[in-house]
Order: sequence, then structure tokens, then C-alpha cells
Amino acid sequence: MTEIYSKEDEVAILDMIDKWVTNEVAPIAREFDQADKYPEQLVEQMKELGLFGATIGQEWGGLGLPASIYAKIVIRVASAWMAPGGIFNSHLIQASAIERCGTQAQKDKFLPLMATGEMRGGIALTEPNAGSDLQAITTTAKRDGDDYIINGAKTWITNSLNGNSLAVLVKTDTEIQPRYKGTSLFLVETKDADGNFLPGVEVIKMKKLGYRAIDTCEVVFTNFRVSAANLIGEEEGHGFLQAVGGLELGRINVAARGAGIAQGALDLAVRYAQERETFGKPICQHQAIQLKLGEMASKVEASRLLIEQAAAKYDAQERCDMEAGMAKYFASETGVFCANEAMRIFGGYSYSCEYEIERFYRDAMLMCIGEGTNEFQRMIIAKQLIERNKV
Ligand SMILES: Cc1cc2nc3c(=O)[nH]c(=O)nc-3n(C[C@H](O)[C@H](O)[C@H](O)COP(=O)(O)OP(=O)(O)OC[C@H]3O[C@@H](n4cnc5c(N)ncnc54)[C@H](O)[C@@H]3O)c2cc1C
Repeated sequence: MTEIYSKEDEVAILDMIDKWVTNEVAPIAREFDQADKYPEQLVEQMKELGLFGATIGQEWGGLGLPASIYAKIVIRVASAWMAPGGIFNSHLIQASAIERCGTQAQKDKFLPLMATGEMRGGIALTEPNAGSDLQAITTTAKRDGDDYIINGAKTWITNSLNGNSLAVLVKTDTEIQPRYKGTSLFLVETKDADGNFLPGVEVIKMKKLGYRAIDTCEVVFTNFRVSAANLIGEEEGHGFLQAVGGLELGRINVAARGAGIAQGALDLAVRYAQERETFGKPICQHQAIQLKLGEMASKVEASRLLIEQAAAKYDAQERCDMEAGMAKYFASETGVFCANEAMRIFGGYSYSCEYEIERFYRDAMLMCIGEGTNEFQRMIIAKQLIERNKV
């Protein structure tokens, strides 16, 4: 799937992203975050930049970017404002499920629409009583002629209000053991051509600590009809593996968002530490502040290297669950660490909504939770460590 991009191509792409982030994303971040207002104009710009097709294969009109370049894009966006990255990240996880597991007809029908952003969405896995333990979901899809009928409630679903499609994990068999064999993944088109929700789907926006401006919602399906042709792979029983099969790329993405938050917090702190004076000198000349900056900068670089390592293995189609887990764990914790340390460097002003740093502080923690919590990442790393070093 991945086309070869030269170093010059990479520089040109990242330069274009840098300009967009500086001119369009950073200037509106504070206002839209604080008002919890959806940044429509960024969506249009993302379409023009090709971001909705960033990792979709070129045969379907996507850019077919390797994970290594894609991760660098995500770091750049998150270093200004993490939330807009979710608009194309979750969408691309949905597209990846189709690209990896869909039938040829499903790929040919949906991927070109997803690559342009005409069809946009995310993934609906989590339920009120099933997050880490996804096999415990209770949303069902029952066959009825050429359709399936979906009933159940999903929660924390990003892009579900402003997007028009979702990859929805359901149970098509509630009895079978092991439980994952009873799961299936559907591509659900939630809206009609006029942008109105179809009968049987209700979406309720949630209020969040951070990651604001982006729609994260409860999604309730009541006798919602979906064509059997939208069952990804057109065979029941593979949903769980189809959903978690894309998690390595998802983890590299979340790692990149964590590293971006860390970089952004560091940049703000480096600047503020030179501007703020106490006891007759800039605070960057106090050793206590230097220790913070030194540790933050080292962890940011270490995160970047872990992400590069995981992305290189992913692009080479090598097994990378341990590497992606390490990158996700370390970079997301670094995001939290750097945001916290930057808050201390800003002193009382860290609490002011006039400054950007409080947003980084509110946004950072999510990266430790999404795409498999960091408790799970460390367990994955340990299991792989044992498997690769058997005595
Ligand atoms: C802002 C936001 C956006 C989100 N967007 C999406 C989305 O678009 N789509 C989607 O499907 N989901 C989404 N989620 C949900 C997210 O993926 C889940 O919150 C996450 O998977 C954790 O599930 P949970 O919240 O149910 O926690 P739980 O599974 O209840 O876990 C609670 C705690 O117990 C720990 N734990 C659980 N089981 C074990 C175990 N066996 N061993 C050790 N520790 C364990 C966990 O690590 C965690 O610390 C989003 C969440 C948020 C907050």
C-alpha cells in the first residue's frame, strides 16, 4: 500500500503542514477550545491538504503516506493543538479497517469517499460497561433479510456528531465462546444526503475536561437498519480482530499526539522561562527551572526516537506491537509530564485562561487512556519481552 516518498517529498509535506499549523491552527486554538466550538474551517483545509486520505492507498485517491511521515504530521499538529488531529486520526482508523479487512467492493465504494473527506467518521467500540474489555460489549446486530438491525449504546465516540459514518463493533452472536468470535464490525452511514441523522440513531454530545471543540458523544442505536453489504469483510465473527488489528498504527498516532503535546508544552515553557524574571534575572537562569527544561527536552527527544523506531518497523511490515506500545506509553506519559512541568514553570499564570499552557495540561491525560490504556501498554510490552526472550 505504501508508496515511496523521497526525503525531498517529506520535507515539502512537513513544510506545508508547518505553515498550516502556524497560520491556521495555532491562532484559533484558544478561542475554539474554550468555547468548545467545532473548527469547521479546519475541516475544509484538511480536505485540501489531503489529510483525510493521508494513510489511505493511492489507488483509492489517498496519499498513501508511510507511518513515519504521518507520525511527524501528527506531532506538528498536536504541538499547537492536539484536538483537531482527532478529526482525521479517528477517521483514518475507520478507513484502515476497511482497507485491511473490507471486500474489494467495500474498498472501491468507501475508500475514495473517505480519502476526500466527503465521508468522514471514526470508530465506535466503547460502551458504558465495556472499554478495555471490548469483548464485553452488548450492542447487537440481528440479521433481517438483506439488512441487520442494530440495538445498543456506545459512548465516548469521537467524530460521531460532525462526521457521517462510524465503524461500529457489535455482537452478532451473544452465546459463542470465546466471546470475540461473536463480534462483527459494520460500516454504518449515520446521516442522509442532507446531513440529517437517519432514523434509529441518536447522538448526544458529552462535556469533557479537555480535547474540546471536537465532538465526542454517546451514540444510541434503536432498531437501526444497516445493509448486510456494510458488514466489513461480509462475514460475521471477525469484528474484534478487525478492530484491534489496526491498533498498532493507532498507537503510533496516539504516541505522536503525546509527543506533540510534550513538544508544545516545552516550547511554551522555554519561551516563558526567558521572559519571566524573578530576583533580578530570567527564571531560566535559576537551576530549578533548568533541571525541569533539561528533563522535559530529553524526554521529548526520547519519545520522538521511540515513535520513529515503531513507525519504521510498521512501514517495513514487521511485527511492532512492543515498539508501538513503548512509543505510546512513553510519549503519552511524556505529554503529561511536560504539561505538568510547564504548568509549574508558568507559576500562577498557568491557571490563567489567557495563556495556552492550561489547554495542554487538560488535553495531555487523554493520550494515556485512548488506544489501550497505559496499564495495558506495559502489560503488552512485558508479554512481548518474555515471548522474545524465552529461556
Ligand atoms: C475523550 C475521549 C475520546 C474517546 N474516543 C473514543 C472513540 O472515538 N471510540 C471509542 O470506541 N472509544 C473512545 N474512547 C474510549 C476509550 O477508548 C476508553 O475510555 C478506554 O478504552 C478505556 O476504557 P474505560 O474508560 O472503559 O476504562 P476501563 O476499561 O474501565 O479501565 C479503568 C481502569 O482499569 C484498568 N484496567 C482495566 N482492565 C484491566 C486489567 N485487565 N488489568 C489491569 N488494569 C486494567 C485500566 O487500565 C484503567 O486504568 C474515548 C475516550 C475519551 C475519554
